[in-house]
Amino acid sequence: MTEIKTYPLIIIGAGPAGLAASIYASRYGVKHIIVGELLGGLIAETHLIDNYPGIEDVTGFEFGQKLAHHAQKYGVEIMPGRVQKIFKAEADFEIELAGGGIISSKAILIATGTKHRKLGIKGEEEFLGKGVSYCATCDGFFYKNKTVAVVGGSDSAAGAAVYLSEICEKVYLIYRRKKLRAEDFWVNLVEKNSKIEVVYNTNIVEILGAEKVCEVQLDKIYKNAETLSVDGLFIEAGSVPSIDFAGGLELETDENGYIKIKSDSSTSTLGVWAAGDTTTGSDKFCQVITACAEGAIAARSISNYLKK
Ligand SMILES: Cc1cc2nc3c(=O)[nH]c(=O)nc-3n(C[C@H](O)[C@H](O)[C@H](O)COP(=O)(O)OP(=O)(O)OC[C@H]3O[C@@H](n4cnc5c(N)ncnc54)[C@H](O)[C@@H]3O)c2cc1C
Repeated sequence: MTEIKTYPLIIIGAGPAGLAASIYASRYGVKHIIVGELLGGLIAETHLIDNYPGIEDVTGFEFGQKLAHHAQKYGVEIMPGRVQKIFKAEADFEIELAGGGIISSKAILIATGTKHRKLGIKGEEEFLGKGVSYCATCDGFFYKNKTVAVVGGSDSAAGAAVYLSEICEKVYLIYRRKKLRAEDFWVNLVEKNSKIEVVYNTNIVEILGAEKVCEVQLDKIYKNAETLSVDGLFIEAGSVPSIDFAGGLELETDENGYIKIKSDSSTSTLGVWAAGDTTTGSDKFCQVITACAEGAIAARSISNYLKK
């Protein structure tokens, strides 16, 4: 029988929250391991990050790498992979990994962020990778001088539209409300960009094409047509917390599934902490700075808990 390796702390997630927690945990002398799928987290998909104090004009990918290097400087092991399930086993937690294998710990920090919300419309699954994308930074390059649409009205949607306008000939930004909900900074960039056309009060109801996407069906007539011809569709329709694996922990969540945390980042389950975008913390202001702060707070609280 293979022996199950036990750690004082397992951090699930290798994004800003998990990596910041790791830096603090290392400095508090808490032995731990990080299990995470995407090194650097969601920010690695971002074109540019320019609102993290003290760091100007850095690409999301570079920023994620810097965070990971900083954590690794203190010797942490970052295990690439996905956590499938967590069980409470007497005093410890057992963590089942997607590729097989179990590791266990006294304390757990869940820092798994969010995943992209789907529109749930016809053609979305069928054309994924054939014109439908959830990541402008990753896939924008394939649409050089083409026409694309972005769905959504958030910072991410506006940021994606601005980024794509640097590559594409034309970008439609399609939003279901009459006003974008992005920061003024992004709204100004969108409004003064001649390549971006915002289509307000409109939903996409179907994605159409043959081998690839060629048009989107709208729920109303826009410029005398019910369809828009596009080569690609970028979906930025918000996000949902990535905590499918944590069902067995009976964590208290809000109505949208975000883990409720206290001011020390602890959850309703003893021995489990949560930090970053997956929580209700920081007034649900999902940013790198708040994710890092919650990670640091969690690490301090976990260190105190383990010392007891
Ligand atoms: C397009 C876009 C632009 C953005 N721009 C900015 C910006 O300019 N400034 C800013 O401050 N913020 C920005 N954000 C928000 C920022 O990216 C997030 O707030 C931040 O990444 C949250 O960090 P996190 O660690 O909580 O989660 P994430 O960064 O989402 O990291 C989660 C980690 O958990 C891993 N994971 C998930 N599920 C599992 C599992 N089951 N097992 C193992 N690992 C798992 C993931 O692979 C990842 O490593 C942007 C977001 C997007 C989408």
